[in-house]
Amino acid sequence: LVAPDGAVRPTIFAEMSALALANDAVNLGQGFPDTDGPAWIRERAVEAIRAGANQYPPGPGIPALRRAIAAHQRRHYGLDLDPESEVLVTAGATEAIAAAIVALAGPGDEVLTLEPFYDSYAATIAMAGATHTTAPLRPTPAGWRLDADVLRSAVTERTRVVLLNSPHNPTGTVLTREELDLVARHARRVDAVVVTDEVYEHLTFDGARHVPVATLPGMRELTLTISSLGKSFSLTGWKIGWVSGPAALVTAVRTVKQFLTYVSGAPFQPAAAAALDGGDADVADLAGSLAARRDALMAGLTRAGLRVARPDGTYFVCADASGLLDATGLPDGAALARALPGLAGVACVPLTAFCRPGGPTNDALAPWLRFTFVKDEATIDEGVRRLLAFA
Ligand code: PMP
Ligand code: GLN
Repeated sequence: LVAPDGAVRPTIFAEMSALALANDAVNLGQGFPDTDGPAWIRERAVEAIRAGANQYPPGPGIPALRRAIAAHQRRHYGLDLDPESEVLVTAGATEAIAAAIVALAGPGDEVLTLEPFYDSYAATIAMAGATHTTAPLRPTPAGWRLDADVLRSAVTERTRVVLLNSPHNPTGTVLTREELDLVARHARRVDAVVVTDEVYEHLTFDGARHVPVATLPGMRELTLTISSLGKSFSLTGWKIGWVSGPAALVTAVRTVKQFLTYVSGAPFQPAAAAALDGGDADVADLAGSLAARRDALMAGLTRAGLRVARPDGTYFVCADASGLLDATGLPDGAALARALPGLAGVACVPLTAFCRPGGPTNDALAPWLRFTFVKDEATIDEGVRRLLAFA
């Protein structure tokens, strides 16, 4: 299982965080906030523990959280969901993705993702025994964009699932309504289910608006929408995620989920319900402060000689580091990312960690690095100072 195409391998995030630690480097690699989410939400988890929420919660998640998820989808997107049958709580978005892919795809089926793609996708598709196909995003002056012809030829009669991600890790792209319409049209053409990872749904900048695929005409019945508490509320370690969609699809995911984790996060579930019900202002504050930190990091990377692509959302900015490669004589971004903690005292992630090994996108993105800006301003400034001293 671990062998075939290298899809199931140690995650790059663990490797880079270990290198950062060993070299006392500023860690702009793994995307996790260095400031915990709102104290009032954390307090709710403490209260829940004291009140006895310490045994297995109900399989689909506690009713209050399922209701809060349904209310969130209605309030933000006008989507109506039955919290009883159309919402499932999972151990983070990661489990929702894994359970959905295992439920829907197997040997002989193709699962299509964008490329670059979040690293769990390739591993999960491999574990399901399905075939991973990709539609590469292209860096253009208007951001990383999905080309209509690329998508048309990528969606085949064997495509069972289109596993989408917007706002997109690692590029920070927020897919446009037109791009999503194209995805929807081709998914319908071959009767594929769209599984959409929207964990950065609220972390968009400069007026970019996230559009859930499920809101497109005819797509509600064909779409499983996944999100989680971690990114919106800076509580990534709580691992509370969810999936929503038509009852038959959610039931299939739930059936698999039973045998992955069964249930999880008993005291975090009531706190997550409170966060979703009452935390919109906290989320908006985070998005606003992230935009400023993005600008600071982009400006610093540019001064250090990297060619930066402006992200419209997420935690991440990607940069072409060809200049640093020339200066160091290192062969590619993977080598540079592994050397930088020791050379410059800064950790980041090579973009090829999000590509199929040896494929054309891997080659095209070989000089690219991903940096996270979900760190406090002093940390970002120190990272930039070190890069400038090195470059
Ligand atoms: N999807 C994407 C695109 C991500 O960046 C992450 C990051 N952590 C996840 C899923 C996992 O989310 P969770 O921690 O809720 O499992
Ligand atoms: N999603 C985070 C990132 O892309 C990391 C999460 C993880 O380490 N699995 O950096």
